[in-house]
Amino acid sequence: IQCEFSVIQRESGFISGLVCVLTDITEQEKIERERRNFVSNVSHELRTPLTSIRSYTEALVDGAWESPEMAPQFLSVIETEANRMMRMITDLLNLSRMDQQRLTLDKEFVNMNKLMNHIIDRFEVVLQSEEYRYKNYRILRDITKRDLWVEIDQDKMTQVFDNIINNAIKYSPDGGRIIVRLMDTHSDLIVSISDEGLGIARKDIPHLFDRFYRVDKARSREMGGSGLGLAIAKEVTQLHGGKIWVTSSEDKGSTFYVSLPYVVFEEDGEWDEI
Ligand code: ADP
Repeated sequence: IQCEFSVIQRESGFISGLVCVLTDITEQEKIERERRNFVSNVSHELRTPLTSIRSYTEALVDGAWESPEMAPQFLSVIETEANRMMRMITDLLNLSRMDQQRLTLDKEFVNMNKLMNHIIDRFEVVLQSEEYRYKNYRILRDITKRDLWVEIDQDKMTQVFDNIINNAIKYSPDGGRIIVRLMDTHSDLIVSISDEGLGIARKDIPHLFDRFYRVDKARSREMGGSGLGLAIAKEVTQLHGGKIWVTSSEDKGSTFYVSLPYVVFEEDGEWDEI
C-alpha cells in the first residue's frame, strides 16, 4: 500500500490538517512486473532460435555450402528453427489479440460427441505413422453416446484439445494409454485427457497455464514447444465461458480437464413425428 501525505496549510503558515491518501499498488505492481517478465521472456525465446539460425548461416557462408554432407543438414536446422519462430510469433499474436479483446469467436452449434471422436480419429492416424509405429501409444475413448450440443468456435476449441492431446503424447516418452473422456453434468460438459507420462510436480501446477512456463525447458524446446500452448488453451476456454484445470501425480501421469457450458435440447417432445 502506498501512502501519500499532503499538508493543509493556511496563508498564515498555520498547519490546519494532514491528508493521507492510501493506494493499493500491489495489483499495479504485479501487472507491471508480469509485463516486464513477458517482454524479457519473448526476447529470450526468440533469441534462442535466431542465434542458431545465425551460426548455421555463418558456417554455410564460410564454406559449408560446398559440402554435400553438411549443407543439407545445416539448411534443415535453419528451416526447423525458422518454423519454430513462426509458430511462436503466431501464438504471440493470438494471445495479444485475446488480450485486447480483438479475437472474435466464430461460434456454431457443434455436437461434442462427434467432434471428440473426429479429433481422436485424426490422432490415431498420426500414431500409425512411421515416427510412432514402434512406440506403444494407445488412445482409449470413454465418450458418452449422448449428443451434447455446445455453441463453440470449432477450430479454436479443436486447437485446445489438439494441444492437450499432443502434450499427452510428448510428455509420455515411453508411450502408454491416453484416455479421452467426455462426460456431462446438468449444465456443463467435461472433457478429460489422461496420460501415463512424466506427471507434474505439485509446485509447478499453479504456473502451468502461465505464458512461457515450462517444467523442463530443455525437454520442451527439444520437442519444439514454445511454452505458450496451455496459456492459449486457457484463454480460448475462458472466452467460451469454460474452465481448464489439471490434476497430476509425478511419474504416474496427468489428467487435463476442460469444461464448457452446454445447451440442453429436448430429445423427445413436440418435434416427434406423429
Ligand atoms: P510446451 O510448448 O512447452 O509443451 P505448453 O504450454 O503446452 O508448452 O505446456 C507447458 C508445460 O507444461 C510443458 O513445457 C510441460 O513442462 C508441462 N506439461 C504440459 N502437458 C503435460 C503433460 N501431459 N505431462 C507432463 N507435463 C506437461
